[in-house]
Amino acid sequence: MEKNYRAELTGVFGDPVDGNPTGVMEEAAYRECGLNYRYLTLRVKKGDLAAALSGARAVGMKGFNLTMPHKIDVIPYLDRLTPAAALIGAVNTVVEEDGRWIGENTDGKGFVRSLEMEGISLKGACVTLLGAGGAARAIGVECALAGAEKLTVINRSRERGEELAELISRETPAKAEFCLWTPSVKIPPETQILVQATCVGLHPHGDQKPDIDYETITDRMTACDVVFHPVFPLFLQEARRRGAGTVTGIGMLVQQGALNFELWTGREAPVETMYRTLEAEFGASQQPEKAL
Ligand code: NDP
Repeated sequence: MEKNYRAELTGVFGDPVDGNPTGVMEEAAYRECGLNYRYLTLRVKKGDLAAALSGARAVGMKGFNLTMPHKIDVIPYLDRLTPAAALIGAVNTVVEEDGRWIGENTDGKGFVRSLEMEGISLKGACVTLLGAGGAARAIGVECALAGAEKLTVINRSRERGEELAELISRETPAKAEFCLWTPSVKIPPETQILVQATCVGLHPHGDQKPDIDYETITDRMTACDVVFHPVFPLFLQEARRRGAGTVTGIGMLVQQGALNFELWTGREAPVETMYRTLEAEFGASQQPEKAL
């Protein structure tokens, strides 16, 4: 058979995008599997999305990720949304299938898979979510679809928090309620899985942590953080000090990257390689204890 030099293109469109590490792990996965795929990290400004998408069509991209500020704006350009992406109302992954573009959201699914990797089940669980932004929305919806019984959404702005709680109660079998975030807010004692889904503590603000009453975190809870840089933020350190289990944002990042890989290539993702690549990128191995 003649040699084929043509590369399949994938990538991410966003602004800012310079600090987005997804390409490092996707390219490592492509190399590991011997696939002639590339992942391009592309800065696309808000007003340039339409032009970038028409370029993506012209060069026949296999699929791509969207990050800020394009996760909602991309929707009118897609042929179909998966049911979860439609519920969440945002798309972070597009997959090309026979010339049609399908919009998916792998953020929340990646989170659920990161819990499964730790042997944590969501069936019948009480989940407390700190935040109601894009990441929290995807996580809340997917936790509810994965069998969580009750979700408490704690958020600073009432409107966003109430909307998420109402969406979950209306569209999924789970019960959800909203709690306004006041200084030193208490974590409900029935919480089994506590998710820090705000951007507080994200590099270069690694010296900050969410303003909650840390004494209300117990050793019956598992604390999870969406922030992955630093790998083990102050929030997780405080939770571990109270005996809680911990799951880092790297787990979610790797698992959503693995889902993207599977959607674009049809192959099983080399998850271990993807973990190790990001671990090296963020110096996770320098953590004193298990951090993934
Ligand atoms: P959004 O801007 O959509 O939402 C931010 C949320 O944080 C809002 O709920 C906001 O509350 C809340 N918030 C911000 N500052 C504070 C504060 N000082 N105290 C309390 N709440 C605060 O951001 P995203 O949801 O898109 O991203 C959130 C984080 O998730 C980022 O750090 C991002 O890097 C991370 N992320 C990680 C992924 C992973 O794979 N690990 C994937 C996707 C995102 P309010 O509504 O009141 O403004």
